[in-house]
Amino acid sequence: MIGILGGGQLARMLALAGAPLGLRFKVLDPSADAPASHVAELVQGAYDDPDALRRFAHGCSVVTFEFENVPSTAAQWLLDHVRVAPSPRALAIGQDRKNEKQMFERVGMAVPAYRLADTREELHAAVQAVGAPCVVKTRRLGYDGKGQARLKPAPDLAAAIDRAFDELRPAECGGLIVEAFVPFEREFSVIASRSTRREVAVYPLVENEHRNGILHRSRAPAPDLDPRMQQQAEEFARALLIELDYTGTLAVELFVSNGRLLANEMAPRVHNSGHWTIEGSECSQFENHLRAILGLPLGSTAMAGGGYATMINLIGSMPAREELLAIPGVHAHGYGKARRLGRKVGHATVVGSDRAQVDAIAAKVERLAEQCAAAKNADWAVGG
Ligand code: AMP
Repeated sequence: MIGILGGGQLARMLALAGAPLGLRFKVLDPSADAPASHVAELVQGAYDDPDALRRFAHGCSVVTFEFENVPSTAAQWLLDHVRVAPSPRALAIGQDRKNEKQMFERVGMAVPAYRLADTREELHAAVQAVGAPCVVKTRRLGYDGKGQARLKPAPDLAAAIDRAFDELRPAECGGLIVEAFVPFEREFSVIASRSTRREVAVYPLVENEHRNGILHRSRAPAPDLDPRMQQQAEEFARALLIELDYTGTLAVELFVSNGRLLANEMAPRVHNSGHWTIEGSECSQFENHLRAILGLPLGSTAMAGGGYATMINLIGSMPAREELLAIPGVHAHGYGKARRLGRKVGHATVVGSDRAQVDAIAAKVERLAEQCAAAKNADWAVGG
């Protein structure tokens, strides 16, 4: 029995990946209808409720996470009662952009220029030091482009800094970090797993495109990839896994700027930009996470299904099953969530041996998803 803190779609995909290995899953989530509860045992409760934690941990041989913002009280309680992977130290680093950046620098990875700021005065000084354009981010609790403000060089910059300070509420999110705006050519991510036996497996670099701060499309391997960049990303991922003494799967988002890789942020967990690995890799990021935390041999990260994969996120609402499955070659994943603006409700992956053909099929999914968003089509929630 494996325990997963959080019962969202990542937990659901972990449970689905583990079922053929004969593994069983228990998830802790405050929601009665959490996506993973359809495929795993649910303990409904707050993450920091000792009684819920006790019921959750009971019978689990190891506990893992589907998000990094685990309350520290929950992490500590679990540590005292059950084996936890990845380690709370890796989670703590992944929770705070300052720690993350310092970690990247320690393993020799370039990061955008940055300054920290807790007070209004410090924010003005930090923007001055970094220079506009820049991005102000909350150190903690940001996701999908939330908890960020972009500042452009403008005569009213001082007022924009004050507005950013008021909106981002640094006292509630561990302070702020000001990053130089990176005029990136492309965005990549590297996903890698490391087992309790210290075996490491790294996936091919993925190219990611965002819309409104949310991942829209991932293509693997990143098209026209310079092999030196893949090698650099692999070396970086290995160094990071070792520095963190990490067990499980992690992802690092990267910018390509002037042909150089810069580290943006780390997720100490399976990641949306690795969903394509379910059909596109010999062993998915989910299965390798489970193998890693259980000390089993890691699976191959080689491309499967022809060598190319494209994933499209389905945001807001799901196209009807009949329409989505009528597109030949589509692997559809619905998370059983009710429709809601900006919510990740599913994804679709296309694999094949011809990059252009794979992308053309994925483009049909994109068009269908756009029509569906406009038409408010049926969702795939329970009963939907
Ligand atoms: P994050 O939450 O840090 O992953 O940021 C969400 C998205 O905002 C990234 O995927 C980028 O597209 C963009 N972004 C974040 N930081 C920067 C930056 N320093 N310069 C340019 N774009 C950025």
